[in-house]
Amino acid sequence: TGINFDKYDDILVDVSGSNPPPAIMTFVEASLCESLSKNISKSGYVKPTPVQKYGIPIIMAGRDLMACAQTGSGKTAAFLLPILQTLMRDGVAASQFSEQQEPEAIIVAPTRELINQIYLEARKFAYGTCVRPVVVYGGISTGYTIREVLKGCNVLCGTPGRLLDIIGRGKVGLSKLRYLVLDEADRMLDMGFEPDMRRLVGSPGMPPKEERQTLMFSATYPEEIQRLAADFLKVDYLFLAVGVVG
Ligand code: ADP
Ligand code: MG
Repeated sequence: TGINFDKYDDILVDVSGSNPPPAIMTFVEASLCESLSKNISKSGYVKPTPVQKYGIPIIMAGRDLMACAQTGSGKTAAFLLPILQTLMRDGVAASQFSEQQEPEAIIVAPTRELINQIYLEARKFAYGTCVRPVVVYGGISTGYTIREVLKGCNVLCGTPGRLLDIIGRGKVGLSKLRYLVLDEADRMLDMGFEPDMRRLVGSPGMPPKEERQTLMFSATYPEEIQRLAADFLKVDYLFLAVGVVG
């Protein structure tokens, strides 16, 4: 397993939209803080994949992004690293044991396996810092999930239904939300999560798109995804396509 860089070195990359920032060639160029750089090295990442080279500077520039790249191309770190970098730089520690948590980032993926992978990656990258990722999905008891969230949570990872549930119970407030990530957007549509995604984005207290940074990731780019991107992302969002996108 792992990344086969040989097959990526001459892959076609297309960025459309106005004024995209230049790509980075190395993680060093991303000017990440020391703990994050250390955790990246410990993960065995030596150089960024194409979706990371282009995606990291776009997200760090504060732009909304719709990114399409095949499965296994490193999309998780493409959004986690710039988000974690900003939260670490700003040093926002999660408030512990409060009645309600107000995460700075919410990451959504369709299945417990997928969201758990993202969560584990986030925990690895956030190790030894003020950032506390928490994961919520169906199948763990609601009581346990709520206790884990209330212990402190600035990066909340979850499946759509569980996120709606925990927000609906008032355990998660949205007033500090800066990043909303919809990962595996095409699979979420295939699995019938479009109503849940729309309900989540339209949750009471959700900052309007002008006041949050929204990032969408997908392996394919059918018309329904283009419509969701137009609805959820700012008008000047960037579209990043790596490889041949269907
Ligand atoms: P995707 O979300 O695009 O399907 P993942 O983010 O799950 O891909 O990454 C696939 C695998 O590659 C994971 O095991 C991940 O840890 C690894 N990986 C990601 N980026 C790098 C990198 N820059 N160097 C080495 N391995 C990487
Ligand atoms: Mg992925």
